[in-house]
Amino acid sequence: MTATLVGFVLGIAVLAAAVRLHDRTARRRTARAAEQAARPHTQPADVPALVLAAACCEIWWTSAGTDHEPTCHHKEP
Ligand SMILES: [Zn+2]
Repeated sequence: MTATLVGFVLGIAVLAAAVRLHDRTARRRTARAAEQAARPHTQPADVPALVLAAACCEIWWTSAGTDHEPTCHHKEP
């Protein structure tokens, strides 16, 4: 009788641990997906494409994107 009770309690404990592990794994998967969805353009493969898309005049390149040539159409008045 006591052995059956101990076995039952151990079974419940193992089941509870398995449920906690499953919940933690599911939460991590959900958090990772939400993080990737929140910043889709920060993937390393996208960085060169973004730089090239924003490329401008010669002064823009040499000033690290802080200034433009006087005749550049991106220069703000
Ligand atoms: Zn420019």
